[in-house]
Amino acid sequence: MKPLRAADTADAEDVAARAKQVLKDVFGYENFRGDQAATIEHVATGHDALVLMSTGGGKSLCYQIPALLRDGVAVIVSPLIALMQDQVAALRDAGVRAAFLNSTLSWSEVKRVEDAIRAGQLDLLYLAPERLLTNRCLELLDSAQIALIAIDEAHCVSQWGHDFRPEYIRLGELVTRYPSVPRLALTATADPMTRREIVERLHLREPRVFVASFDRPNIRYRIADKAKPRAQLLDFIRTEHAGESGIVYCLSRASVEQVAKYLDSHGVAALPYHAGLDARVRELHQRRFIDEDSIVIVATIAFGMGIDKPDVRFVAHLDLPKSLESYYQETGRAGRDGLPADAWMVYSLADVVQQRRLIDGSEADEAYKRIATAKLDSLLALCEASDCRRVRLLDYFGEAARACGNCDNCLVPPKEWDATEAAQKLMSCIHRCRTASGFGFGAQHVIDVLAGKLTPKVQQFRHDELSTFGIGKDLDVAEWRSVLRQLVMLRLVEVDRERFNTLVLTDESRDVLRGARRLRLRSYVKSTAPVRAGRRRVDKSRVTVETHDASISNPAVFDALREWRRAVARERRVPAYTVFHDSTLRAIANRMPRSLEDLRGVSGIGATKLERHGATILEVVVRAGHANAAGDGHIESPN
Ligand code: ADP
Ligand code: ZN
Repeated sequence: MKPLRAADTADAEDVAARAKQVLKDVFGYENFRGDQAATIEHVATGHDALVLMSTGGGKSLCYQIPALLRDGVAVIVSPLIALMQDQVAALRDAGVRAAFLNSTLSWSEVKRVEDAIRAGQLDLLYLAPERLLTNRCLELLDSAQIALIAIDEAHCVSQWGHDFRPEYIRLGELVTRYPSVPRLALTATADPMTRREIVERLHLREPRVFVASFDRPNIRYRIADKAKPRAQLLDFIRTEHAGESGIVYCLSRASVEQVAKYLDSHGVAALPYHAGLDARVRELHQRRFIDEDSIVIVATIAFGMGIDKPDVRFVAHLDLPKSLESYYQETGRAGRDGLPADAWMVYSLADVVQQRRLIDGSEADEAYKRIATAKLDSLLALCEASDCRRVRLLDYFGEAARACGNCDNCLVPPKEWDATEAAQKLMSCIHRCRTASGFGFGAQHVIDVLAGKLTPKVQQFRHDELSTFGIGKDLDVAEWRSVLRQLVMLRLVEVDRERFNTLVLTDESRDVLRGARRLRLRSYVKSTAPVRAGRRRVDKSRVTVETHDASISNPAVFDALREWRRAVARERRVPAYTVFHDSTLRAIANRMPRSLEDLRGVSGIGATKLERHGATILEVVVRAGHANAAGDGHIESPN
């Protein structure tokens, strides 16, 4: 049943109070985030809106709660079938009358949903746009009362974006068919041009635009030098995210396969995902990642759109994304539940060269290449930055921020050093090799010469006779690579991609060689290790983590609750997170409830869920609590 009803004329204060009540009773949450309350009030009282909120910001409640407050059925348009199924499963579990219509349903299931709509027994209906626009569906909706129309992923109307969908344009027609129904468009893409296009093409009427901050305070950004990427990744996962869900992005299908195999053979449950896999296998891997709570998916960028999983604890990049936007979108898939999460990336000179080559080698025109180069450069600047990563990220999206205390540079400020002399050595070595032999050499060889290594190639070209042979013994190979990468970044050295990636000096190199320009560079960061210990020590005054406490005082109870959740999810064939979020299980483990009364008010436990699961949860807590007290439930990790 609908818990509350509100006519369009209801006064705003009344609507606000009812919205808050629904938030608590149905979803089990205490407070609205950011613009949620204002948006809900605006839409529930019959007005159009555009909501711009980063991934994980909490867009769904902006239409789910008005849907429960208004008479009739709310129509939710979403292009992503997997996502609508999961949302419906979660809503039903919270006691909400929700359904979807899509190609996965049998004829009789479709019939049942249609009957429910005609009888006014449904509060939310999820649909793909092409389905909504069929005559059959429109006629069905004509026979029902529509509470509102929500258009998710609204940036799909933009012909300039990556996700353009022609059916989205036709959604604008709905304004004439249902003139009195409020409509709300939602997206995580924020640029002003897309914003204008959404309003125009969907014919939103005097919409209020809600722009949320794009900050994701619970995500810790870390970027380090790539040395042995797989080993670095394994170390990161083992020490910080054992048994947790994560996404690892690689550029090529081959490396996806290799990395997945490597992780798997080292005890991390990892699955590959890329466009070259059989569709069934891909589907299965995605499903397991979503449904279970401890799978690491190793993927090309083909993975992610429409993955709504809230408990992804880390996103790792083993290769450089193509722009800062891509980086932000991909890392944004971590930590939607508000709990601490990591965005972890390693990169090297080879990545920079490869990305630049992808741009140059593309079929696109010069204007496009210029834009792509500029976008890549902003990402590189982020990588090489010595100051707060978050400040830089948000600045890129037009938002001012203060140093965050939750990125690698804030936690362990990198050292800068006067690298003028090192740069001079490197540059003159590049120059000497080239003039001695009449052609250029690549990074590996130049660094061998600096290091004074008598490799076969050095001997073949007699570069051991050069004045620069062995003048670089003060730095190790990794440090030289870091210097070289930064020089390439600064365009003081170029990599000639037409000629076997040989190194070339540029016009600007001369100033440094002459000593007219001094250079300060970031020192080489050996690993991301120093930040490691700080994971549980997020500065809570600055990071609004919803659970209030990221630590778990009873790990054995938490583990038992996860085990129980896994069983429930498997039995009911729904994703584990739709049963309860990690944040809810953590809160239970910390509270150690003894009665249903103790459980009430735990974030994420609404009335229906309390009734449905309350008693069993208490049993699990008592049993695990006892085992723990007896000392046989919790095995300390050896380090
Ligand atoms: P988006 O669609 O914007 O990416 P979601 O609507 O999926 O984000 O919300 C992200 C997560 O945050 C969800 O798991 C949701 O349950 C949770 N959430 C949203 N609003 C609140 C709130 N006010 N209090 C607590 N949790 C919330
Ligand atoms: Zn910072």
